[in-house]
Amino acid sequence: MAQPRGRLYILSAPSGAGKTSLVAALLQQLSQLEVSVSHTTRAPRPGEQDGVNYHFTNRDAFQKLVDQGAFFEWAEVFGNCYGTSRLTVEARLAAGVDVILEIDWQGAQQVRKQMPEAISVFILPPSQEALRQRLTARGQDSVEIIEGRMQQAISEMSHYPEYDYLVINDDFAQALTELQAIFTANRLRLDRQMQHQAALLANLVPNAS
Ligand code: 5GP
Repeated sequence: MAQPRGRLYILSAPSGAGKTSLVAALLQQLSQLEVSVSHTTRAPRPGEQDGVNYHFTNRDAFQKLVDQGAFFEWAEVFGNCYGTSRLTVEARLAAGVDVILEIDWQGAQQVRKQMPEAISVFILPPSQEALRQRLTARGQDSVEIIEGRMQQAISEMSHYPEYDYLVINDDFAQALTELQAIFTANRLRLDRQMQHQAALLANLVPNAS
């Protein structure tokens, strides 16, 4: 029998909502789950590795990939371009792996058009104050830069009604449990279980209606 396909998950959040830490913890807990590594034209931040956090590229190379149709989705986010490789995602889904796309709302809209069955989750901070604190704690940036990031975050957050699930990251452990519940519940859906547990079900109930 053909390998059951993996599911595609979209995860969006404003910067400062804790998405990256939540995803890292989720990957420790669930097997058969991977995060897609996007291409971006933005410069690496300290500690970021090419091929691990992103495939770092320049505008020309990015544009060539756009022209070739290599991206499943792509968007310009606050002055930089970001895109998801179509071939890589398709290969992992075909291998039965669930794939997370950590993308913005523009990319999420493009993915939903092409793959309406994709499951989308928006992660929110508990308040604007908490978000401001988290954005401030990140470095020694000026008030103007932090306010700029706040406005970007608020603009990103205005798209939460477009998503299937909302997780509020106030308490990290609780947010992680909730995120895990979304993935686990989806893995237990009838269609998926009928594929994954085909042999067990055939033995158990040979004449299912
Ligand atoms: P950062 O530069 O902070 O890593 O990411 C900035 C924004 O770009 C975040 O909202 C992130 O989710 C989004 N992003 C990262 N990769 C992609 C991608 O491949 N496609 C789209 N549409 N957005 C992405």
